[in-house]
Amino acid sequence: MQAAVLTGPGTLVMRELEKPSCGETDILIKVKACGICGSDVRNYHAGLRGNVEEQIMGHEIAGIVEEVGRAWSDSFYVGQRLAIAPDVSCGTCYYCLRGLVNLCAAHRMIGTHWPGGFAEYIQLNETILARGMVHPIPEGVGFDEATLAEPAASVLASQHDANIGLGDTVVVIGDGPIGCLHLEVARARGASKVIMVGLDRLAFAERFEPDHLIDAASQDPVSEVMRITNGFGADAAIAANPVAETQAQGVEMVRKRGQVILFGGLPKQKPMTTINSNLIHYNELIIRGSFSYPAAMHKLGLELIATGKIRAAKYITKTVSLAEIPQAIADLKEGRALKIVVHP
Ligand SMILES: [Zn+2]
Ligand SMILES: [Zn+2]
Repeated sequence: MQAAVLTGPGTLVMRELEKPSCGETDILIKVKACGICGSDVRNYHAGLRGNVEEQIMGHEIAGIVEEVGRAWSDSFYVGQRLAIAPDVSCGTCYYCLRGLVNLCAAHRMIGTHWPGGFAEYIQLNETILARGMVHPIPEGVGFDEATLAEPAASVLASQHDANIGLGDTVVVIGDGPIGCLHLEVARARGASKVIMVGLDRLAFAERFEPDHLIDAASQDPVSEVMRITNGFGADAAIAANPVAETQAQGVEMVRKRGQVILFGGLPKQKPMTTINSNLIHYNELIIRGSFSYPAAMHKLGLELIATGKIRAAKYITKTVSLAEIPQAIADLKEGRALKIVVHP
């Protein structure tokens, strides 16, 4: 089978590999679509996490079951359409025992610890099937659209934990696919106003019709949010980007007891941020981290795509072949595309 293998920072090699086997406790998937994630863009340049030197990346996967091992004959069938998210928890650590599987101390990922979806086939082993996230694609949802369920899952978990809801005014800082998902999920949860702060992809963000779109290049996001909210501040600000300054802005633009959600990680060489701590103190602000999601959120993501609450097709700028991944990564990095899906 053809696969795109990351062999080191900035080096993606096309390889002809043996098609993975399907043992008694595995299933084999023919990959139909695999989204390129922001983390793929980052790992392509910086190398994989966890000292993994060489791997097939890709973790926003949709495909068809090609073979089913005997142990799974009651659960899956040949020809079944499945969406696959990457996170696999251990089930026995402190966090897993408390249901916080996204914080698992022995957390592993498809595309890092096991070969990912930038290949014609992917084997799902017993561990992945027992502790991972594999769900049938609802009728009417295409393979490309189904790949969006993965990034949607993390957004859904984040807003669930923050209890974004009816009547809220929410600021989303960041106009990438994650920012647009935050906008749609906030609306689905009942937010009455979503203000988007655009950095470099305003034209894409506009398609999702935010109530207000602030151009951070020419406007001051904090004073604009205060103007729009009549000096009151927003109920929540979500920093959905890798820029430290936006976290500081979030603290300045929420109301008393408002929430600032740190959704995007900062570059690992530069993780420090400076925020006005007095605002946290006097205004009793809540600063909330957000990482990954439990399996239910991946399933919910598929349902929201099926019902049109998440308009998945709107995100996908283009589809590419395995060999075109490096160019696609450059396009994403330069803001020339919102979401690119690979057809291996
Ligand atoms: Zn992803
Ligand atoms: Zn665990």
